[in-house]
Amino acid sequence: MTALPANIDSLLVTYQPNVRYLTGFTGSCGCVLITRRRRYFFSDFRYRDQAAKEVKDFAVNLVRGGLLPGLCRFLRARRLKLGTLGVESSRLSHSDFLLLRRLLKGVSIRDAGGIIEKQRQVKNGQEVDRIRRASSIADAALEKLRRYKVTGRTEKEVAWLLESFMRQDGSGPLPFDIIVASGPRSAMPHGIAGDRVINKGEPVVIDMGATVDGYCCDITRTFATGSLSSRQQKIYRTVGEAQELAIQAAEPGAACAGVDKLAREHITAAGFGEAFGHSLGHGVGLEAHEGPLLAPGSVDTLASGMTITIEPGIYTGRTGVRIEDTVLVTGTGAEALTVFPRRLLILK
Ligand code: ZN
Ligand code: ZN
Repeated sequence: MTALPANIDSLLVTYQPNVRYLTGFTGSCGCVLITRRRRYFFSDFRYRDQAAKEVKDFAVNLVRGGLLPGLCRFLRARRLKLGTLGVESSRLSHSDFLLLRRLLKGVSIRDAGGIIEKQRQVKNGQEVDRIRRASSIADAALEKLRRYKVTGRTEKEVAWLLESFMRQDGSGPLPFDIIVASGPRSAMPHGIAGDRVINKGEPVVIDMGATVDGYCCDITRTFATGSLSSRQQKIYRTVGEAQELAIQAAEPGAACAGVDKLAREHITAAGFGEAFGHSLGHGVGLEAHEGPLLAPGSVDTLASGMTITIEPGIYTGRTGVRIEDTVLVTGTGAEALTVFPRRLLILK
């Protein structure tokens, strides 16, 4: 149950992952209104049966002519007073805001974003179980890939192989396009699989996720197609050590900025500080990227039940290496949910 903060009397939730989190509704058109006394869910005719089946503990209302106009008509018809209405400002389009302001005369609207996102950071047992199952699917796909010859194939072909393995094993829609970045493209942290043909003796960064009942995992491995130079091997070792340090330090009460700092200092000490330009990690759940944030300056603190990634990387010149795992913060430390081997593996 969502407790409303003292500065609002009601909360309108329009961001679909938050709506799904609160209600279980998996459709693409729904919103939630929480008042101090009741919880309402709004959708339209297309989702009548689905809403009846999925949405529990909310009064379900099907409206016509758009969700927000329908919601406002519903409020007027019942003479429901909202008091100060909190909205998810960063998730609400400007036109929807103007619409609400016009239709809800006399209601003061203020930003109450982030309330549900904050709740979502700590997972319950069922959520952890889904992320665990998604992690197993992704692990298995990487394991299967090892039996295939990747040299001579394009990055896109390898991405498709991985996607088909995961879907065959029961993954839902993938949370993001698979990154397969080979050779010099490995130095692009977000090198979506392209038409480049993978050659022998290169690093290949693969970053992907599976979903189970909407819950994601996120894993990156850097493979090699043949032997790498000693500098490339040093980069790989350094990233692996940084990840290990961070996983060891992840525990309830640990500052996210502090965990990031440990990994970052290790990479800096090895001479690659400038080449680690992104954050150490992020929360994973209904979205592949959610809170908390593990980065310099983050004010987030780890808590038991959070599922996060730990993903240091070094991108320099024509070589990139990233190693990423989805990790559960337990009562005492951290447990990796993705468990595919972290040592440097050679693909054919
Ligand atoms: Zn990733
Ligand atoms: Zn990630």
